[in-house]
Amino acid sequence: MEKKNIDWSNLGFGYIQTDFRFVSNYKNGAWEEGVLTEDANVVINECAGVLQYAQTVFEGMKAYTTSDGRIVTFRPDLNGERMEQSAKRLEMPVYPKEKFVEAVLKTIKANEAYVPPYGSGATLYVRPYMFGSNPVIGVKPADEFQFRVFTTPVGPYFKGGVKPLTIRVSDFDRAAPNGTGHIKAGLNYAMSLHAIVDAHKQGYDENMYLDAGSRTKVEETGGANFLFVTKDGKVVTPKSHSILPSITRRSLMQVAKEYLGLEAEEREIYLEELQDFAECGLCGTAAVISPVGKIVDHGKEICFPSGMTEMGPVTKQLYETLTGIQMGTIKAPEGWIVEVK
Ligand SMILES: *Cc1c(COP(=O)(O)O)cnc(C)c1O
Repeated sequence: MEKKNIDWSNLGFGYIQTDFRFVSNYKNGAWEEGVLTEDANVVINECAGVLQYAQTVFEGMKAYTTSDGRIVTFRPDLNGERMEQSAKRLEMPVYPKEKFVEAVLKTIKANEAYVPPYGSGATLYVRPYMFGSNPVIGVKPADEFQFRVFTTPVGPYFKGGVKPLTIRVSDFDRAAPNGTGHIKAGLNYAMSLHAIVDAHKQGYDENMYLDAGSRTKVEETGGANFLFVTKDGKVVTPKSHSILPSITRRSLMQVAKEYLGLEAEEREIYLEELQDFAECGLCGTAAVISPVGKIVDHGKEICFPSGMTEMGPVTKQLYETLTGIQMGTIKAPEGWIVEVK
């Protein structure tokens, strides 16, 4: 298989159309077998449920080449499980997680020529998603749906080196206490767009959202979970029902305990505590961990001792261990790495 002629190391994070995508339709109460197609366009009715009432959920994952030349993906079963949970919360039929993993692997395999080589820092981003496809005008769930998986090659996240982020505490809320913050739905992103555009205008990289109920506890950013390191070297992450359960964050907590011998705890974290932490990072599929150098709470600056030029020492160890596991240079826990054959 010959790779596409792409300047992998200089790719950004944008959509580049690849050759194949997977499509399966849900009709009369059942999912079709599904096929790979070369048609990148979706044709749906003007009144489709997704267009009127935002009935859509998605996932995000990566395929990449390991140090020994295998094409793999990371814990796809957890993405499949999470998409099942997301679908249930939005009254959509579950696309079974086993079929989900099969569809993901098939789509990656078909686009093998777009999987960046080892060492380039680039990856093939994989986007499974599902939406209500038939006309719905009275408010109710659609009864026909489409599940799709497409891929797009994306460049190294830390192109030109690591640059710790500056984050502001947001006056906007992301998720209601008993709302949809824990599922991966487009609706959570639609309402965060104004907040992120505004944050960028004010010179910040991201928004830190607080719990909407009391506005005293840390939740997450628009698309990544927080991880903090205490001054005595313990890894802590916020516990809340309105946070999206990041697979990267869950993996890093396990890496902290089992590979680095650190204490790692999921607990409520108060805004007031931030000044006591030694390190802060954002976890998600895209970057694994992006270090945070500074958090600004309405003019009050919280600067982490790790500074504005590099990752903190524990953050760095976590980053290097998990990326080593992903790239095949460090032995992975059972089931974490799934080969595309
Ligand atoms: C996708 C997402 C994350 C990161 O999850 P990963 O599984 O680690 O990629 C975190 N927060 C939100 C709101 C997300 O949508």
